[in-house]
Amino acid sequence: METARGNPQTAGVVGRYAPSPTGAMHLGNARTALLAWLHSRAPGGRHLLRFEDLDTGRVRSWAYDLIRRDLEWLGLDWDAESVQSRQLDRYREAAARLDTYPCTCTRREVLAAVQDSAGAPHGAEPVYPGTCRDPGARHPERPAALRWRVPDARVCAQDRLSGQTLCQDLRTQVGDVVLRRNDGVYAYHLAVVVDDAAAGVTDVLRGADLWVATPRQVALQAALGFPTPRYLHVPLMTDYRGERLAKRGGAPPVSALREAGESAGRVRAQLARSLGWAVPDEVPLLDLLPLWRAALEGAPALPAGE
Ligand code: GLU
Repeated sequence: METARGNPQTAGVVGRYAPSPTGAMHLGNARTALLAWLHSRAPGGRHLLRFEDLDTGRVRSWAYDLIRRDLEWLGLDWDAESVQSRQLDRYREAAARLDTYPCTCTRREVLAAVQDSAGAPHGAEPVYPGTCRDPGARHPERPAALRWRVPDARVCAQDRLSGQTLCQDLRTQVGDVVLRRNDGVYAYHLAVVVDDAAAGVTDVLRGADLWVATPRQVALQAALGFPTPRYLHVPLMTDYRGERLAKRGGAPPVSALREAGESAGRVRAQLARSLGWAVPDEVPLLDLLPLWRAALEGAPALPAGE
């Protein structure tokens, strides 16, 4: 069972690995999972596994067990497991505590409104212009998403690994955040914040692709009265062309290596070397703990996020 507090016998660190069970784990996922485990365990902390399976259309029912088996094969254990699709009440309650409004704008309408507005950012993610803040602009006949009316504030996030700070103006750079999509699916940003707080997570280690979304998650934590955890964003693994490994891009699944008789020690060594760590061809998991501690002490010590 999840608990709200870390084990008092440990240094109080509670970390987690939060995969989306949308397919098999590839080496990039495995590297993030390994680093998250090392970060939780290096100070003797608790480590949680959370399946982020709210986007039911993308979830594959076989992926849960496959991910568990891959993690176990790599030697990565966890103290408690949770599954987001079984926590919908939590998200409903949290959303009800926020200042929200129903939004019936389609993606196309949002894009058109953004393109029409002066000073539309180029290349950046489109910022919702707040059309449905005006009740008269809503279409009651359409299914509605739920948006959080973000405060007029600038919010900063800090990354413990890179030492970077990222500040965003919520109104102009983020826009009103979708908390529940118009098909009823609760949004990742809400769920992640609610679950990390419910589990007492103190340290969030995850892929660098989520760094840009961190200020809005910090803003949600503040609005819900939750503490902000420490953040550590690790670079995503790239292939020989420098492209990010992706489940759909044909990156070899960890399960294929496992089933082909590859040794977990060799895979760990490959992951460690991809971080620039000098290790032998096969490496026991526990030998990586001091390397992670050294990386943390010397942070920023990992290659910069791509
Ligand atoms: N479920 C997300 C992913 O698989 C990770 C979310 C997080 O760690 O905050 O990319």
